[in-house]
Amino acid sequence: MTVNYTADDFDGDSHVGPEAAMARLKEGNRIYVEALDHKRDLSPERIQDLFENGQQPFATVITCADSRVVPEHIFMAGLGELFVIRVAGNVVGPIEAASAIYACEHLHTRLLLVLGHTHCGAIKAALDGEAGPVAAVTNLIAEVVAGAADPYEASLLNVQAALDELRAQPALRQLEEAGALQLAGAIYHTHCGVVDFL
Ligand SMILES: [Zn+2]
Repeated sequence: MTVNYTADDFDGDSHVGPEAAMARLKEGNRIYVEALDHKRDLSPERIQDLFENGQQPFATVITCADSRVVPEHIFMAGLGELFVIRVAGNVVGPIEAASAIYACEHLHTRLLLVLGHTHCGAIKAALDGEAGPVAAVTNLIAEVVAGAADPYEASLLNVQAALDELRAQPALRQLEEAGALQLAGAIYHTHCGVVDFL
């Protein structure tokens, strides 16, 4: 079923808007990098509250499975705050796109961030022409990073390709055109923890 959204569908709703969601991500990353405060609510009470009242994450983040790139830490987010889709190389295929559509349509997250990172093993493997058992990921990356001058440029191209793939989904494009969703890209700097929003 195709749903046509208009801005009216989102007037007065209680979901966090895209600008506020982006501001929370930026402030969270600042706190993370400066190590000002590492306290988050992971209490049994919070677990129970989310179970009883359901989740209402303020943003969806697609990022790499790399163990150093953990969105809940990077943005200082607690339980129930981020809908996170992690896959090697932060590639977007049908499964990742469907997961994002679920979060944006049904959970009404209004910011969809693709977070690439520096020193990504999946991107290095793609640039090195590795295939074999990892080809399902590296082939997707190799297609979009051909011609990149260096791994950093490749990571930028890979984020852009993921955004393009998400915008090719009618459900997400409609939400964006209705002003109910903002898509954004960012790069996590693995050596220092800083996120650059593109
Ligand atoms: Zn990676």
